[in-house]
Amino acid sequence: MYVLKNCRLVPELTEDYNSEFADIVIEGQRIVDITGPEKACCSAERVFDAEGCTVMPGMFDLHTHISYTGFGDLHDGGRSEYKILLDTIKHVTDCLNAGFTTLRDAGGKPGLCASVRDAIDDGSLVGPDIKVCGRLMSPTELGNKANKWADETIHEIDSSDSIRKGVREEVRDGADYIKYVASGAVTLKGSNPKIPIATYEEVKKVVEEAAFKGRYVAAHCHDTDSILLCLKAGVYTIEHASLLNDACMEILKEGRQFIVPTISCTGAKLASGEGKPAYAAYMANDTAKQILEGAVKSMVRASEDGLIVGLGTDTGMPNIFHGNNAMELVYRKNLGGLQDAEILKQATIYSALISGEEEDKGTVKSGKLADLIVVDGKPDKDVSCLLDGIKMVIKRGRVVRA
Ligand SMILES: [Zn+2]
Repeated sequence: MYVLKNCRLVPELTEDYNSEFADIVIEGQRIVDITGPEKACCSAERVFDAEGCTVMPGMFDLHTHISYTGFGDLHDGGRSEYKILLDTIKHVTDCLNAGFTTLRDAGGKPGLCASVRDAIDDGSLVGPDIKVCGRLMSPTELGNKANKWADETIHEIDSSDSIRKGVREEVRDGADYIKYVASGAVTLKGSNPKIPIATYEEVKKVVEEAAFKGRYVAAHCHDTDSILLCLKAGVYTIEHASLLNDACMEILKEGRQFIVPTISCTGAKLASGEGKPAYAAYMANDTAKQILEGAVKSMVRASEDGLIVGLGTDTGMPNIFHGNNAMELVYRKNLGGLQDAEILKQATIYSALISGEEEDKGTVKSGKLADLIVVDGKPDKDVSCLLDGIKMVIKRGRVVRA
């Protein structure tokens, strides 16, 4: 047992405790008590002093690619298999040190992401909790064979039988959930993100086969038609969700399906006015502008209408580097004008809820897992202090960065 004393807490991220300052008692993997300052210190074996810094729950990144580097060649570029493994371990370590204690990998090198997850789960590697989808499942589509990484990480499925076989193969190979590409992509040559690439029947079949294996489906969707089609077919999370309309909002407001925007993949270029990002090199200028600006507008609309919005980044895609995940929070404030406290909820309790882990994670509460970060600053007043203000990271009670 140890005590993290002199913690400043954020009311929106704290349950069952009402003062600004507290001592947090941690035993094993969990928070066992939150008390008034100086009340818990005497009986503890060890005491860490947070010195009045903010203590908040570890953050979630629900859309990242742990085996991709962030460089233009993604995970290929002549790297050996050993180098790809070592890079992936470094990527998840960088995310953990940046305060992200839970990740959801949204597609990558077959087998690798599941192996890294398992090594963390069995304690042989220190890292964030990770959920994986294995390969990206997609209808046959332009660009899917455009280069080595696409060929290796995209699993094409079309007919009913191949969808069933494909889902079962991914589950066999360790998928916690199924990722399906339902609209064109911005990274693949020839693909058009403004149109669906799957039919309603296909998406419904993917959802059914995934449900049969106890998995949900997350769908890559940029355009309105594909978002709508996926929501109607029962997809659980809409990734990117760039062009929401009234009909999409109506379904989302029922509260059973969620969006995971990834503003990081567009934010840097939009913020600097440099035009479209390098990864969107294949897109026509007006398409790029529409998708990039639409993604911010849709995220803001969903948040302002009170939806539970998840936090994703697309880290690992070109120019989005592991360890910089907190930039997503800064973009949501600077480009979207969202309130700091709301953005923090998206990164913690809302994402925990979407991930089905709200009983254990997402707030500072006695009984929950001690996934905590100590931040020099007040992220509820300005989220940018999360970029370089992380002083300590605790994962399941273990101090992993101090
Ligand atoms: Zn992605």
